[in-house]
Amino acid sequence: MPVARTLAVALTGLEGTVVEVEADVAAGLPAFHLVGLPDSSMLQARERVRAAAAQIGAGIAQRRIAVNMQPAWLPKHGSGFDLAIAIAVLAAQGDLEAEDIAGVVHLGELGLDGRIRPVPGTLPALLAARRAGVGRAVVPAADADEARLVEGIGVVPAEDLCEVLRHHGSRAEVHPPAPQQSLPAAARAPDPERRERLDFCDVLGQLQARRAAEVAAAGGHHLLLAGPPGAGKTMIAARIPGILPPLGNRDALDVSAIHSLSGGFDARAGLITDPPFEAPHHTATTASVVGGGPGLARPGAISRAHAGVLFLDEAPEFPSRVLEALREPLETGDVTLHRARGITRYPARFQLVMAANPCPCGHAWGRGDRCTCTPLQRRRYLARLSGPVLDRIDMRVEVGPVDLRRVDAAGEPSAAIARRVRAARERQRRRFAALPWTTNSQIPGSALRGDLAPERGGRRMLEEAVDQGRLTLRGHDRVLRVAWTLADLDGAEIPDGDHIGTALSLRGKDRT
Ligand SMILES: [Zn+2]
Repeated sequence: MPVARTLAVALTGLEGTVVEVEADVAAGLPAFHLVGLPDSSMLQARERVRAAAAQIGAGIAQRRIAVNMQPAWLPKHGSGFDLAIAIAVLAAQGDLEAEDIAGVVHLGELGLDGRIRPVPGTLPALLAARRAGVGRAVVPAADADEARLVEGIGVVPAEDLCEVLRHHGSRAEVHPPAPQQSLPAAARAPDPERRERLDFCDVLGQLQARRAAEVAAAGGHHLLLAGPPGAGKTMIAARIPGILPPLGNRDALDVSAIHSLSGGFDARAGLITDPPFEAPHHTATTASVVGGGPGLARPGAISRAHAGVLFLDEAPEFPSRVLEALREPLETGDVTLHRARGITRYPARFQLVMAANPCPCGHAWGRGDRCTCTPLQRRRYLARLSGPVLDRIDMRVEVGPVDLRRVDAAGEPSAAIARRVRAARERQRRRFAALPWTTNSQIPGSALRGDLAPERGGRRMLEEAVDQGRLTLRGHDRVLRVAWTLADLDGAEIPDGDHIGTALSLRGKDRT
């Protein structure tokens, strides 16, 4: 019997590696060996491959079968190798011509009934295959739209194993699996957040918070909205992606690949070009927020928010280990997940928007008559944010209850705000054209004290604030970055005293 080889793709984070799946069928006691660091879910692949082949009439011989996956050192997780294993084995026992399958990538999990189920990460897998020079890929029919986003690679969608065998000119008589009674496995939950258009014209009043949201969007700054429940903090946060510019090509590919891996990517509309918005609940697990999970370390909300907005509602309620884990991505723009089998890295350059009640009961506002918290509870509540994150927040804005008698007109629509944001971003792009950063939020401290230092009057204002203890040294730099964004929104060449004064008031008082 000949040895047969075909291809699959192993993913580590967003990085894919083409894997050669080699099958050898020999006389001897019936056995099915899988070699090449398979994890426990891959051991079940043997059962699925046997059952699926039997269901379509392509039995796997009772012989000594050995399947070897190269490179052997590479960890291989999940069920996406099923199809490649089945095809290699069936070719090795003579049902297929070995040369027909040799250069083709096969992706898909096999159901026991012979159907092919979708796999996470089809987009990054095919990007890796194309980089490796692969010209053709067989993918689950449910992943076909996603696979076709990768240009330059021939995509063959398949519903079941029978279709794949017929595509490769099977010598064995095969038939489609019996019709299924239940819903097709391909059905996926749509992503309502992505399509829904939330507009700032729905937000009444809240001039300062709206202004802060615009500044945050224009310069990529982090924002804390503090105020009682029902004041509209969540409404404002959820509308920030709608005033951000659409994603560039690189970001669109990365964001789409991350969402492909974590599930819920609807590829029918193409790559994701709207900046994402992720709002994990404070009861969510650390793995679901930061990334992780058994086997393949999946991206968490902070990576799904890459190039968009990560919104933490009731931020002080989040466990400290989650808040602590934000420190690294806030500094580096990505997150490193340490697993038993190695390290996975995902992009996580998000804009952080947090909302906080003034106290645990939420009523310590205005005269605070209804607040039932003790002074100690109130102090501890916001102090939970202080260590890892609060100092990295550029703007802290109070959002009070709206007095509807004093609001007479609908708010300005998002489209008008988005135009100003786009113009401000364009000024930054031109100013930083030859530099390694793109938004004001990324200006290093050295540049703020060098080429991008404000005029003397503005410098003196900041120095006074530091001297009086109203501003920390780190806060000093953050205020200056926001002042640059205010200048860009005004079309000014350099921040003046007004811009710095406004940035100082948006920063809020630094606790000492
Ligand atoms: Zn209270």
